[in-house]
Amino acid sequence: MAIENWVAQHVDELTEFRRDLHRNPELLYDVERTAARVAEALEAAGCDEVHRGIGRTGVVGVIRGQQSTSGRAIGLRADMDALPIVETSDKPWSSTIPGKMHACGHDGHTTMLLGAAKGLAESRGFDGTVYLFFQPAEEGGAGAKAMIDDGLFERFPVDEVYGIHNKPGLPIGQFAVPPKAVMGSVDEITITIEGKGGHAAFPHLTTDPIVVTSALVQAVQSIVSRTVDPRQSAVVSITTIHAGDAFNVIAPAVRLNGTVRTLDEEVRNDVERRLQRMVEHIAEAFEARGTLDYVRHYPPTVNHPEQASHAVEAAVTVAGAERVDPDYDSSMGGEDFAFMLLEKPGAFLFVGNGDTPACHHPAYDFDDEAIAWGCSFWTTLVRQRLPIGEGARKAA
Ligand SMILES: [Zn+2]
Ligand SMILES: [Zn+2]
Repeated sequence: MAIENWVAQHVDELTEFRRDLHRNPELLYDVERTAARVAEALEAAGCDEVHRGIGRTGVVGVIRGQQSTSGRAIGLRADMDALPIVETSDKPWSSTIPGKMHACGHDGHTTMLLGAAKGLAESRGFDGTVYLFFQPAEEGGAGAKAMIDDGLFERFPVDEVYGIHNKPGLPIGQFAVPPKAVMGSVDEITITIEGKGGHAAFPHLTTDPIVVTSALVQAVQSIVSRTVDPRQSAVVSITTIHAGDAFNVIAPAVRLNGTVRTLDEEVRNDVERRLQRMVEHIAEAFEARGTLDYVRHYPPTVNHPEQASHAVEAAVTVAGAERVDPDYDSSMGGEDFAFMLLEKPGAFLFVGNGDTPACHHPAYDFDDEAIAWGCSFWTTLVRQRLPIGEGARKAA
């Protein structure tokens, strides 16, 4: 076990910081208190620059190494927002704000990156620049995209970018790195079937949208089995159906919602195209009108294999090869770090959160034991990716 000495000495103060964030969860872009605490802590740690208000409430810290001959820069990202969930963990530090809680461990992610910032600002044992990205609105608000749209990578040009998420069920002190696809795209679909309502006793004078819907819901199940390559993954789920008010009236229209998840942009395009045709033409076959509103929220989160291997190397240095899974499975959940991976080479990985309820569960809590592992991972990754001396050799 190679938790950095510096981290071990500061873990109590970092734990206090994490629990303070946990007591005071904030949602989406409204993370003013959290962002202010982060910015103040980065300044107190001695960051060379601290920038506020990027992508509305994002914060960026800049730390320059003791050498700058490499001309290289690395970006490390944490998320700061909580979820609209009533906490039931009963921990002494549980949420003080009814209906809001840190149920995804972003309080822990923020603390791990802040701990790394403190350690790196003190030691400066690297050649190049480290940019620390603290983003708002990971939970459905695309805060990473907001920061990118606000000029993140123009103002802070990184060669590589990395993100980390805790993983309930993975033991404390273990790491898991998917070599390629990490998480799915997150798309939202709304389908409207417009028919012609009327008396239920005279169906021949109506166009019954519920019958159309029944055919459609069955048909879209064939997209995954008959359109998508069996070696690929996709989910098409219809999750709500709304129509009708009375037993003897045929409704004029039906509205459906659902979600599509894929691990690959091409599969995503295929599923959307196929869904579009089914909605239009199945409705047409019944003389109704079908429209699809397809909203793309998050792209698939796909690691760049080279950077994934760098993440594995740093994790192995910290935890030992037997505690690192370099071939971790992808999942169909979503993650807006995907937007950063579309812009820059990088990788997203998981640090064990031990035997806790799943993320987004009302009794979930980030395990403070994971803080030291996450901090050690970050500082090790920086030293390995921006090694002292390499730039000097290159320049010579
Ligand atoms: Zn989450
Ligand atoms: Zn999360």
